[in-house]
Amino acid sequence: MGEDPASQVYVRNKERACEECGIYSEKYALPEETTQDELLALIDKLNKQENISGILVQLPVPAHIDEKTVINAIDPKKDVDAFHPVNVGKIMVGNYDFVPCTPAGVMELIKESGIDVTGKECVVVGRSNIVGKPQAMLLLHSNGTVTICHSKTKDLAEKTKAADILVAAVGIPNFIKGDMIKEGAVVIDVGINRLENKKLCGDVEFESAEKVAGAITPVPGGVGPMTVAMLMKNTVRAAVVNGTK
Ligand code: NAD
Repeated sequence: MGEDPASQVYVRNKERACEECGIYSEKYALPEETTQDELLALIDKLNKQENISGILVQLPVPAHIDEKTVINAIDPKKDVDAFHPVNVGKIMVGNYDFVPCTPAGVMELIKESGIDVTGKECVVVGRSNIVGKPQAMLLLHSNGTVTICHSKTKDLAEKTKAADILVAAVGIPNFIKGDMIKEGAVVIDVGINRLENKKLCGDVEFESAEKVAGAITPVPGGVGPMTVAMLMKNTVRAAVVNGTK
């Protein structure tokens, strides 16, 4: 909904990925002034539409729309973002169909790089419902020892420096510096921040961090594309869960 430029880029990338994978998609670009009832009516229609396996409402929604009400309206079986409380609860108990795309992408990067999480000190900086919290839970399911840091955490650098695997999801450009990272650590940068010069940068100061890290993801080109890939995976999974063809 609305004209958020970042959202427009994300939606375009998702549409393109669907095309590349051969997944049928429908896009509804609703004007800013659309009412909540109109949005909920559309979600209800898509919940019932048999040729649709997955529904994603690109966040953020405009201020007059209640995000929670919208998320709760999506059929949990079609909730390919895994933001519905039913799916959040399933992730907590470790018996889930969908995992939020960004944390899932981070786990895939770790796995594909041959890194075993078992017994590792994992530090997640950020506790949002869409990244930090589910990220911590997935690392825990992979047998990591997990610490979640946030805006009220004391002595943050002491915590991040203890991490074998450090995930930054803060939303502050270049927030994590090289001197906050343990030698050889795996550093995953979820942040996507647009600087005044229009350039994208992460939450990790790449230049200083890459000198200390054993492995590090770039921004752009690291976690971002993985998020889209995991959305495709969740959609295929949703087709199986819903029995859609
Ligand atoms: P958010 O604003 O909801 O959460 C930020 C978190 O950072 C909060 O939990 C807060 O406690 C913590 N924080 C803020 N200041 C801090 C400080 N000084 N010290 C320690 N912690 C602090 O953000 P979000 O939605 O979780 O997104 C985080 C970043 O990841 C943003 O840059 C966002 O654009 C990016 N993001 C990227 C993708 C992707 O696909 N790569 C997906 C989602 C979000």
